Amino acid sequence: MLDNSAISAGRVRTATPPVFMYHSISPSTRPDPHRLRVSPARLDRHLRLLRRLGLRGVSLSELLRAADRGAARGLIGLTFDDGYTDYLEHALPVLQRHGMTSTLYVVAGRLGGSNEWDDGPRLGLMDADQVRAVAAAGQEVGSHTMTHPHLAGAGAGTLAAEIGGSREVLADVLQAEVAGFCYPYGEFDDAAADAVRAAGYDHGCVIGDYDPGDRFTLPRCYISPRDTAAHLIARIARHSVRLRLH
Ligand SMILES: [Zn+2]
Repeated sequence: MLDNSAISAGRVRTATPPVFMYHSISPSTRPDPHRLRVSPARLDRHLRLLRRLGLRGVSLSELLRAADRGAARGLIGLTFDDGYTDYLEHALPVLQRHGMTSTLYVVAGRLGGSNEWDDGPRLGLMDADQVRAVAAAGQEVGSHTMTHPHLAGAGAGTLAAEIGGSREVLADVLQAEVAGFCYPYGEFDDAAADAVRAAGYDHGCVIGDYDPGDRFTLPRCYISPRDTAAHLIARIARHSVRLRLH
């Protein structure tokens, strides 16, 4: 998918299969005003559907490694934002049942805390031991900044602290390199994308299934709490159509 305009802009477009974006996975019936919660039973139905379609869900790093080799056919990316504790109890067993992996994006400066960046309801965030347990279970851990700020328009100091600083914190927690970055709210600008590259990440992901981005602005499909099999098939189809249009 190389073209001259992409090269001259210093960005190389990356054509990848669709990437699904989940947040909280929980059977809770508490209010969910931000529509972040998918039930474990529904996640199970989603992954069952992917298998019926001949697709295997993988972490974003695994997806990109396969895409780099031209071998991403039959794969789909699975991501979970914010690092809620319910991932360990409710998402991981479903992923393991279906033999799939995912990337969990954690807010490195809020480990063991809660989602203070929105107006609630409050959900618990994994602590360092729990983040290590996710990695030990074969799932990928990526960065979702230090404090979940809006990065578009942020100054160089904020970008360095939130993007580079969180990579260092997580490398210390995991004792491993951190390849993936995820922009809070999916918001980014050129300076933020450049900061992700400069901090040593391999890739970054945003939100939106409308336009294939480059490796540091990879699009993802938001999965809503009520998405059925038909919704998912439509999201996958729309992604492949947009990809072909480019
Ligand atoms: Zn988030």
